[in-house]
Amino acid sequence: MPNETEPHLGSPVERSPATSPASSSTASPPAAFPPLPQQARNVAGAIFRALQALSQGEPVLSPEATLRARLTICRGCISSVPKEVDVEHRRCVACGCYLFAKAKLETETCPDARW
Ligand code: SF4
Repeated sequence: MPNETEPHLGSPVERSPATSPASSSTASPPAAFPPLPQQARNVAGAIFRALQALSQGEPVLSPEATLRARLTICRGCISSVPKEVDVEHRRCVACGCYLFAKAKLETETCPDARW
């Protein structure tokens, strides 16, 4: 488990306490996004991973079929999130990232292991 006080840019996305570590892909989505500092660390980690892949000549952007498949899964995941939490239903309920950007980055993974 990552230390909450240290940045861990190269590590996987830090989840909301409501989703870790006991959650599974069958658990309900959390009722709120992670705290803002945690969301900021998650975004920084995503940027770091993308830049790292770019510097190593690895793919950074997902193919169109992968993007569509990921977003289909995400739509099912976020459909039960109350409108008071995310009125637009455009953000990941586990990490707070915008879904299109998250799904478009080949270097990202679902924090709830759904894709
Ligand atoms: S990335 Fe995973 S946890 Fe986040 S909305 Fe999509 S399926 Fe749900």
